[in-house]
Amino acid sequence: MTEHDDNAAPRAHDPDCLFCKIVDGRIPSRKVYEDEELLAFHDIHPWAPVHFLLVPKRHIVSMAHVTESDAPLLGRLMALAPRLAREQGCNPYPAGGFRMVVNTGAEGGQEVHHLHVHVIGGPRPWLKG
Ligand code: AMP
Ligand code: ZN
Repeated sequence: MTEHDDNAAPRAHDPDCLFCKIVDGRIPSRKVYEDEELLAFHDIHPWAPVHFLLVPKRHIVSMAHVTESDAPLLGRLMALAPRLAREQGCNPYPAGGFRMVVNTGAEGGQEVHHLHVHVIGGPRPWLKG
């Protein structure tokens, strides 16, 4: 047991999940950022000059599965995103900026069922979005 195991299964893991495999290093990724709880890596099919995914390492299926106890983790994720966006080449606000997207469920366009935030930006035109 680690010091984290007593709190809402923060290390929950799905062995069949693509992003859990990326978190584990079983599938390679181009890392943008990593700490104890969060990982960011470049999207394999970028829509724009900057397009990375920011994920909790813990297997949270989607935004529909988020509870109050996830607020600190997701707060950290949201607070980290602007810094990484700038470091990855998004231009400064207000002329620049970036888009953050969290697809949720089938009607929300979610394909990978491990919560992830798309951070998309850079000079237009973009392929999508
Ligand atoms: P979503 O539709 O929000 O579930 O988006 C899933 C995203 O994951 C898509 O933009 C894919 O291009 C991206 N993706 C799928 N496989 C990989 C991978 N192995 N490495 C990086 N990004 C991936
Ligand atoms: Zn997962």
